[in-house]
Parts: sequence; C-alpha cells; structure tokens
Amino acid sequence: MSIKDHCGIFGIFNMPDAARLTYYGLHALQHRGQESCGIVTSTYDENRQRRIMPMHKDFGLVLDVYEDSQIFNTKLLGDAAIGHTRYSTSGSSANRANIQPFRVQYKGGNLALAHNGNLSNARELRRAFIERGTLFQSTSDSELVLHLIAQSRRHKQIDQILNALMQIEGAFSLVILTDDSLIAVRDPNGFRPLALGRYGDAGQNGKTAYCVASETCAFDLIGATYLRDIEPGEILVIDREGCQTGEFKSFHLPSRHGISQCIFEYVYFSRPDSKIYGEMVDKVRRKIGKQLAHDAPPPEVPAEEKTPIVISVPDSSNTATLGYVTECQKLGYRCRYEIGLIRNHYVGRTFIAPGQDKREMKVRCKFNTVEGLLKDRIVVVVDDSIVRGTTARLLVQMIREAGAKEVHFRVTSPTVISPCFYGMDFPSHDELLANQFESVEAMGNWLGVDSLAYLSVEGLMTAVQTANERPLGYCNACFTANYPVPVEIGVTKEEND
Ligand code: SF4
Repeated sequence: MSIKDHCGIFGIFNMPDAARLTYYGLHALQHRGQESCGIVTSTYDENRQRRIMPMHKDFGLVLDVYEDSQIFNTKLLGDAAIGHTRYSTSGSSANRANIQPFRVQYKGGNLALAHNGNLSNARELRRAFIERGTLFQSTSDSELVLHLIAQSRRHKQIDQILNALMQIEGAFSLVILTDDSLIAVRDPNGFRPLALGRYGDAGQNGKTAYCVASETCAFDLIGATYLRDIEPGEILVIDREGCQTGEFKSFHLPSRHGISQCIFEYVYFSRPDSKIYGEMVDKVRRKIGKQLAHDAPPPEVPAEEKTPIVISVPDSSNTATLGYVTECQKLGYRCRYEIGLIRNHYVGRTFIAPGQDKREMKVRCKFNTVEGLLKDRIVVVVDDSIVRGTTARLLVQMIREAGAKEVHFRVTSPTVISPCFYGMDFPSHDELLANQFESVEAMGNWLGVDSLAYLSVEGLMTAVQTANERPLGYCNACFTANYPVPVEIGVTKEEND
C-alpha cells in the first residue's frame, strides 16, 4: 500500500491540562499523518483581560514537536484545546502556513479550526474570494471555512458557522474552537469518521470533559469513554452548560447526496483497535479477510507439498490476514499463518547513495524477510491494497530472494481504478497499476507473482455490511469510479496547491 494517510483531529473541552490530553490524543492518531502537527488552546489572559488562543505547531511527529514539555506549563494553557496531525492532501506540504490548526481573530472573537478531508468545491470558492480581494495565508482548502465564517453577514457566531458550513461541499470532519465552545462537524456524507467521548466523571477536578477524535484509539490512550459517533451532517456544540448537563445543542446540515462513509478507512487507514462508523475496525477487517478466502483462496497444493504459508504485509494487513487464514482452513485449504515480513517502524528520511533506486531503498528500509521461514515454501502474501504496485513488486522480489518456491499475492480490497477526491492522497488515474494493464493476469506478470487475486467489490461491500449492521452507506469510488459527490475530475493536486 503506498497511499499516504491524511489527517487526524482531536478536541477536548472543559478540562484543565487540555493541551496535554490533546497531545496524547494526537499521539494515538499519529498514523493518520506524520508530516506536521499542531495544538491550539483557549484560555483567559489576565494581563490583556480577554480570552486568547495560544498555539504551537510545526513540521514533524507529535513526540518531536512537543519535545519540550514546558510548553504545556507555560504556553498551551486553558481547559479547551484542538489538535491536528497532518499529511497534506490539499495545499503544498512544504508550506509552513498550511500546518493546522488554523487560528484567527475576527469580529466574533477567537476562532481555531482543524480539518480532515478535502472540499470538492474549494477551487470555485477560492476563486470567488480572490475576486472579492480576500487575502489567503495558506494554500489549504481548510482556510476557506474560516473566511466563510468571518465574512458571513449573520450576527450570532453559531449562525455564521452554520452559514459557512452550508456553502462547503465534499469531505469535512472538523473541530472548531471558539471562545466558549468546541464544535464538532461531520459532512452530510460522513466521509471521514469522527467520534464523541467523555473524559472524567465529576471526580477528576470535579469536572466532566467531552472530547472528539477521528478514531477512538485516541480516547483509549487518555482514558476517555466512547459515547457515539458524530452523525453524518451533524454539528455538535459542546459548551460549559452542556458539560454540566450532558446535553448539547445539535444542528444538522441537509443531505444532498446520501451517506457515503469512506470504506477505505476499514480496509487500511484506521487502526484495528479503533471503533469507526460505530463498529470495531478489527471486527470488520477480519470479516474482509474471511470474505477474501471465498473470493480468492490460496492455491491447492499436492499432498506431498509442504503446507503453504500465508504472510501479511505488516501492519495494516495483519488483522485481515488472520481472518483469511482462519476461513481458508475452515474451507479445507491447507495453509498456515506465519510472520514472514518484519516491518521497521523507525523509518524516517531515506538517504540514497548515487545509483541506488530510491523507492527500493525505501521499501528495504521498511521491510525485511524472515529468510529461513520462506525458503523453498509456497508463500501467499496478503496485502490490503495495490495502488501503484511498486512496493508490492519489490516485496515479491525480496520474498523470492529469500528462497520462496512460489509467490501468490492476495489483496483484501478490489482493484484501485480511480483517485480519491475526498481527502486521501492517491496517485493520478494513469499511475494506478490497474489502469496500466488489460487484465489481473498481466498485472500479476508485472509484479512477478505466480498468481494474483483481489477481493471483489461485492465481496467487500458484503463483508463490511455484515460486520457493521448499521444501515449506512459507504463510498467505494476508488474501486468503482462512482463518486457520491460530484468532483471536478480534471483537477489535480498541483492545481489545488
Ligand atoms: S474514493 Fe476511496 S478513499 Fe476516497 S473516500 Fe471514497 S472510498 Fe474513501
């Protein structure tokens, strides 16, 4: 899998040390973006006699950006905070101005925002603002939301925010921090996950806080309890009164295109220990693996042949591979789960000597084979997806170098045929492996495998809908090209930048 993750967002309201809790929340969400991160808090400044929003953000991992823990005692003060961890999907990644959260002061007070997703009408909104003379600080589509709020003619802040949200389209899970509330927003399609949790029960500092996060693994780390998802189209206002009563004002954006939650979150992006869309990723991913056993079983081998071994491409394929092997064995296929690829988690920048292939070095830095295990064996490799195919091809080469007799590749998702316009960083249409070959067999030949097989679109939908029985819709546009919200197909990432 070579799709980069996108963004993780977190927010907490009504708890001293909100920034430190946000730091831990972001740490749990690090897999959703490793390029940059930031935290904004809300506090009262005695000297200035008004509320302020201190901020600290930078390029780098959460652990590095907040290496100096004094920052939580001296700067990031207050009982409310939002945070963001980012991999850019819109807006140039090298541009410091694009690091979130964004923070502004406007006629309605202080305002900060963190966004996960991609606005599909960003280009036309930006064009209209530029014609009106608006100055942009970043090239990110998320900044548009702040301008829409600031320029709204409504009087009350919540109406300005509602007014702004009515004008944006596409994928947006947002946390918005105002001087007196934390507002959690999920677009009407529900593209990206967003969950609501509760922290502390009137015993801890006598307070109860409420928090929101892209994935519930962030709640687990700080000891918060998952309450429910922010529903598609919901705007939940968490304020002080609500923290006392447990009841919050909730508004709803009209739905124009139905619900289409990103199915790729279940396939690859989210952590298996998270609950998204109301169901554990682990459960859904195992079911996907089981379904793959029906759609694409391992090869049948003669009785005298050693038992084929099934290995996963760690870590994102581990859970589905367990489901795959269990079901294959149940169906009577001779196979065994083994750990044949070891992943190095400490891969930073890869320095390349002249003449070395950059991508190959990157893959070799990240994975190594367990040689004695693979030698002379029939090996079935399970991966969650194939995008460009370059990583898969190199892995196959490495497994063969380790002495495997045959290499069969199984994929726990269908062929990726279309880019994502809703917040995932996919390569262009022509770079996708499936668009470069006429058949799966031809793709397999290029990858250098003895056989290649994918989960069908129907198989994926059945697996997800069986594991998560809530009757909600899913986006599967990268496998089908059926985009639930109209997109400007000609717009490339560079144009967005
Ligand atoms: S196109 Fe694919 S990655 Fe993008 S939102 Fe839809 S399912 Fe998710």
